[in-house]
Amino acid sequence: MVREEQAMTVKRILDVKGRDVVTATPATSVAELVKLLSERRIGAVVVTGADARVVGIVSERDVVRALGSRGAACLSEPVSAIMTRDVVTCVEQERIVDVMRKMTAGRFRHVPVVADHRLAGLISIGDVVKHRVGELESEAEQLRDYIHAG
Ligand code: AMP
Repeated sequence: MVREEQAMTVKRILDVKGRDVVTATPATSVAELVKLLSERRIGAVVVTGADARVVGIVSERDVVRALGSRGAACLSEPVSAIMTRDVVTCVEQERIVDVMRKMTAGRFRHVPVVADHRLAGLISIGDVVKHRVGELESEAEQLRDYIHAG
């Protein structure tokens, strides 16, 4: 029997991976940001202001662009000089497929989760792919069971 469809939501991913997010402030230097990205083995950091509000996002791509255009001098600049201010976010109730669409349309790999205007988690493309592969594997297993039961 084919199991009932349960929508894969942002909440279900966060319940498994946790809600901690590596953050920086707009005043954090690009050199400190690079250290954070490398030590924590991540691709992006969310920039927060008062009350954990999302004021920007900065990824390894922004660092590479700044290095390419201004050279190593950008390392002493604040993160606010290179971050993206217009951040696309999502909420816990949102379906993962809709977060995937946001990533594809905006060509980015990170989507911060907000609740009550505060940062409440982060979904990366790695999380989305991991869960999508899990879903496809269980769909394939159901189909195999269905065929063998017939
Ligand atoms: P990424 O693919 O996440 O490394 O980001 C690629 C570019 O998109 C960088 O310039 C980021 O600052 C920007 N970016 C990343 N995530 C988001 C987001 N959720 N909303 C808007 N811009 C983003």
